[in-house]
Amino acid sequence: MNTSLDYANQQDLIDPLLSFRNKFHIPKDKDGREVLYLCGNSLGLMPKITREYILQELEDWKNLGVEGHFHAKNPWMPYHELLAGPMAEIVGALPSEVVVMNSLTVNLHLLMVSFYRPTKTRHKILFDYSPFPSDRYAISSQVKFHGFDPKESMIELKPNGDDEIVSIGNVQKMIEEQGDQIALILIGGVNYYTGQAYDIKEITALGHAKGCIVGFDLAHAAGNLHLNLHDDGPDFAAWCSYKYLNSGPGSLSGCFIHERHHHNSELPRFAGWWGHDKKTRFLMGDEFKPIDTAEGWQLSNPPVLSMAAIRASLDIFAEAGMVNLQKKSKLLTAYLEYLILQENNENIHIITPSDPSQRGCQLSIQMKNPDKRLFQYLTEHGVIADWREPDVIRVAPTPLYNTFEDTWRFSKILHAGLDTFT
Ligand SMILES: *Cc1c(COP(=O)(O)O)cnc(C)c1O
Repeated sequence: MNTSLDYANQQDLIDPLLSFRNKFHIPKDKDGREVLYLCGNSLGLMPKITREYILQELEDWKNLGVEGHFHAKNPWMPYHELLAGPMAEIVGALPSEVVVMNSLTVNLHLLMVSFYRPTKTRHKILFDYSPFPSDRYAISSQVKFHGFDPKESMIELKPNGDDEIVSIGNVQKMIEEQGDQIALILIGGVNYYTGQAYDIKEITALGHAKGCIVGFDLAHAAGNLHLNLHDDGPDFAAWCSYKYLNSGPGSLSGCFIHERHHHNSELPRFAGWWGHDKKTRFLMGDEFKPIDTAEGWQLSNPPVLSMAAIRASLDIFAEAGMVNLQKKSKLLTAYLEYLILQENNENIHIITPSDPSQRGCQLSIQMKNPDKRLFQYLTEHGVIADWREPDVIRVAPTPLYNTFEDTWRFSKILHAGLDTFT
């Protein structure tokens, strides 16, 4: 590796995924120049084919009305089934273990209805250090809903010392000490703030050994890491599709429910007609009979326009392949890290683990003397990144549409900004 633009350009030329950038609309700044988009961890860019996929459904609606449920080019009635296979591929699950429905926080609640079953002696939820606020609110409200006190029943993982990273040793210690009282472990696959990736397999094994249910919020992991949910064995997971999965603002969430739970009729769940046995759904009977796959957790017939956007995106992922994406991602992020650490080290600190196996593409850069003018400087120079109060800039070069040149240009702008504002 070296710091020349030539080197960055060479890396782009030998990148087998380079052409995928052309499949996306890259936003432009006011001078018509493509922005440096490093914000795919917040909202992924729009694939060019998405318009076509959505227009198809609008056309079919226009021309067919209700008949589109059966006679659309992609009939709406089973439309969600088209997503299960490719979405399962993204997270390493069986198609029967995956369903696309609702939005993420809604699904966390529905999954906790089934998988957080507190008792007097086992009522705690062990959750991520500094989780995304929605997860904290959801967990806290579930605890209260069951009549427990969040102060006693919520235990937050803690980082090791002066850094922001939670070691597996820390997770293990908490599970060993309190496992008998933990009903549920619910952790982010990748922490949204630090970018730390947790070891799903290891945490699942530790939790299961103590009789805990284990679930993951994969909002920052799906489409970012190469996952193996079925083999790693967590009980459930949920993620959104609008971050790394490029399916548009507020688009639907993916859910994973391990097949070991599919036939368990003891599991409580909130039910709706779309989770009912397909053969008898339209008999409109009184008795709920759940589908014996993850689909059995569905409530409503899902929005086809949102699913069309997800389909477009999943087609691109299928073509690129998660293994190839992860391979490029590791190179791209390591290169960005290298460039960032060339200068200004007294002013910044990357809180994301430097070990590539403990992160995805995101790097979280902490300012020693936080000055928000730096972030404005980045924005004025065409960088779309994300500032988290009080002092962290998150950048996420995504392997589908970011280039080595992007990371090179970003590091130049970052260092020029740091020279000016620190
Ligand atoms: C983005 C994100 C959410 C957002 O939840 P929505 O219900 O989709 O609004 C929740 N949790 C985590 C960890 C996230 O990263």
